[in-house]
Amino acid sequence: MISKFLREQILATKGFMPETEGDALYAAASVACKDLPDMPIVEIGTYCGRSTIWLGAVARKYKTKVFAIDHHFGSEENQQGWEWFDESLIDSTTGLLNTLPSFLSTLRRTKLSDVVIPIVGESKVIGAQWSEKLAFCFIDGGHGDEPAHNDFLSWSPKVALGGVLAIHDVFVDPKDGGQAPYKYIYKAALDSGEFIEISATGSLRILRRSFLKNY
Ligand code: SAH
Ligand code: MG
Repeated sequence: MISKFLREQILATKGFMPETEGDALYAAASVACKDLPDMPIVEIGTYCGRSTIWLGAVARKYKTKVFAIDHHFGSEENQQGWEWFDESLIDSTTGLLNTLPSFLSTLRRTKLSDVVIPIVGESKVIGAQWSEKLAFCFIDGGHGDEPAHNDFLSWSPKVALGGVLAIHDVFVDPKDGGQAPYKYIYKAALDSGEFIEISATGSLRILRRSFLKNY
């Protein structure tokens, strides 16, 4: 279980990861990092770093790193006029959303800067340059059809055999939420025949790579 200090920090961090799902993320990442020592964790979609705290705690425990990828401009639904807009995250000099200052402050508060490495940029561009295999890949980035499809194509091949692909905001029923992570990441991974489902907690799905194609 995560420490009392880090749990307090999680509760003080803006974001979208419910505690039960974050705890399931922590449990799944712990197993993956124990099974695959020396391989890192990647998170796509960090926002202010709420989910990142659980992953940072795992990285500290298993002596690995979390590469936390986000362009920090927010997703579509974080912009002004949308459901998940937070005025306090607007950069007054540009008038645009910028979650990087808040994320860096989360790293300072939690003292996780030595194990969590921010990578600021577009997920697809970073994925194209990334060659290292991953113990754990958590996808919680853009939820439109195109970004979700791109995240699947860019990052699922990087998960090592026996490693884990975790996906957030998977809604089977359209009444519960957008379908892109369900269709373009979760179902695509299962349909590939390369992943098997390990667990489901809320909208979080944990899949393990059981077969490795030659990419
Ligand atoms: N995991 C976070 C929530 C992430 S919200 C938490 O637990 O609170 C989704 C994030 O994905 C946003 O911060 C947005 O900037 C980022 N994002 C969306 N599309 C992206 C892309 N194509 N490349 C990089 N980051 C992206
Ligand atoms: Mg999410």
